[in-house]
Amino acid sequence: MSPNAAGIVERTLVLLKPDAVARGLAGQILARFETVGLKIVALKMVMPTRDFVARHYPNTPEWIAGMGKKTLETYKDRGLDPIAEVGTTDPMKIGEMVKAWNIDYLSSGPVVAVIFEGLHAITTVRKLCGATMPFSADPGSIRGSYSSTSAVVGNATKRAVRNLVHASSTPEEVAHETAHWFGTEKPCVYRRADEDVLA
Ligand code: UDP
Ligand code: MG
Repeated sequence: MSPNAAGIVERTLVLLKPDAVARGLAGQILARFETVGLKIVALKMVMPTRDFVARHYPNTPEWIAGMGKKTLETYKDRGLDPIAEVGTTDPMKIGEMVKAWNIDYLSSGPVVAVIFEGLHAITTVRKLCGATMPFSADPGSIRGSYSSTSAVVGNATKRAVRNLVHASSTPEEVAHETAHWFGTEKPCVYRRADEDVLA
């Protein structure tokens, strides 16, 4: 990477969730990130426990309410009544429900954890993943390319929305999640052959 790019090189954490691994999409999804110029600096496959995945998410009231709001947005878009669907309009209550389903989901099979490094990595990875709900995600994004599920489907089946990937959304999430999945393991330091052309 050129010295001028130094200030905008970030690291971020990506998880290939159990549905991505089970569907044999790990290689294709990793390639999406690599092709943009993001460099794999740490990678492992883990069969996580329920307790471990429960501590992956921020679990703050804001994050729980945020998940509830995503369900409510999907209901609004689809013209559905939240009371009829889940018995409440309270984003916290819906978020708590989703949080429990997320623990089932992420502990249901092997997960691939990756640290990517590159220009604007946090935002670039989130952009490549697409919106949380595959139904609303742009067609070219990872979530929009490999699924069309939504909160309507998730809540009807009492499961988290199977959206293939997780990506940190803030520097604070990056710090927590890289420490959570990789502990004190140090990311690898190496140059990709195309770094000078990309920066
Ligand atoms: N999720 C869900 N239903 C919702 C909102 C979220 O099943 O209404 C799941 C989904 O798998 C999502 C995860 O909870 O990826 C974490 O939610 P967050 O709001 O952090 O979305 P993300 O950052 O993954 O886009
Ligand atoms: Mg999130």
